[in-house]
Amino acid sequence: MTEKSAPGRLSYRTLVVLQPTTFCNIDCSYCYLTERGIGARMSLEVQRAAFDSVLSSELVEDPVVFLWHLGEPLSVPPRFYETAFAIAAETADRYGRTISHGFQTNATLMSDRWIELIRRHQVRVGVSVDGPAFIHDRVRVDRKGRGTHADVMRGIGLLQDAGIGFGAISVLTDFTLDHPEAYYDFFVEAGIGDVGYNIDEVEGANTVSSFGPESSTRRYERFLERLLDRAAHHHGAVKIREVWTNMAALAFGGSDPVNNTNAPFRIINIDHKGGATTFCPELLTSDHTMGNVLDGPIDRMLADPVFERVGAEIAAGVRLCKETCEYWRFCGGGSPSNKFFEHGRFDVAETRTCRVHKKATVDVLLRHLERRAGLGVAE
Ligand code: SF4
Ligand code: SF4
Repeated sequence: MTEKSAPGRLSYRTLVVLQPTTFCNIDCSYCYLTERGIGARMSLEVQRAAFDSVLSSELVEDPVVFLWHLGEPLSVPPRFYETAFAIAAETADRYGRTISHGFQTNATLMSDRWIELIRRHQVRVGVSVDGPAFIHDRVRVDRKGRGTHADVMRGIGLLQDAGIGFGAISVLTDFTLDHPEAYYDFFVEAGIGDVGYNIDEVEGANTVSSFGPESSTRRYERFLERLLDRAAHHHGAVKIREVWTNMAALAFGGSDPVNNTNAPFRIINIDHKGGATTFCPELLTSDHTMGNVLDGPIDRMLADPVFERVGAEIAAGVRLCKETCEYWRFCGGGSPSNKFFEHGRFDVAETRTCRVHKKATVDVLLRHLERRAGLGVAE
């Protein structure tokens, strides 16, 4: 995905990604959403059915986080969420559930009114920002091709002034790889202490990645080495998701890691028309809908032929990963959407994305730790 739903820092047992609208007010060059120019919204009927079908299900475990995403969540008015959150709360009470909400936003439409709503409902926020303006504005542009960095920073400023914590998600392109210092320093100087990144993957409407075959992997390794040196210089002032998740796997992980994107019903995705899938949200853009919440509880997915076929293929791909990949304990079998969009099927193992975002990352991180241990700085 382009801005991978940012759920990594949300504390959930079940993540439900909801599409309030197909529309996005900007037009990033790597966006995978095909209908982002169309303003179709989730109806009240679909909202009611979505909350009921999820919260009534025994497949779902508390706490449940509803992440509003798959379009720009702030491009619908605040009253949309006042209503949706009230329906969600009433439904959660009925089923004795613990729920919360999150926005994954480009932050360009942030305003005092949104800040008030976010604070009142304790909405968790993830902001998409790709680094300093000269990197961000090459790809995160509006429909006239103008950079959006200044608007994003205004939105971030409103969050910071209000004392609302947030995590950042960014997308690395080939261009970013030449600028690790500027990339890292941006987050330090902007006071953003928590960032995760993805690479611009081939997915949905984004049919080309700027990451070429081998040379990009080597350049990515150099980028990450310099990023880690920079982070060491700042004593880890910015928490980089890719470092911490792999360190946690190394320090605390077992031999059977769980990857939420390839284990069924840890993530449930519901589009504005009620179409539903499990596994990665990106499957909604690739004709892998596994039912509709208007037809009843999400448990019905278990008998859906798409779920049966895709679920079996995903499980075969995960088994292949476990049998063949020495990075298994860091990864747990990768993201099905990467496998599908790169290979046209799910029962495969390696992808370009995992070669860079997982394997190269782990290699660089282990070398970094060895080097620091050798310098006597790890004790
Ligand atoms: S902000 Fe997100 S949804 Fe909007 S165009 Fe960019 S990547 Fe797509
Ligand atoms: S790194 Fe790639 S090949 Fe290895 S387990 Fe993950 S997805 Fe599978």
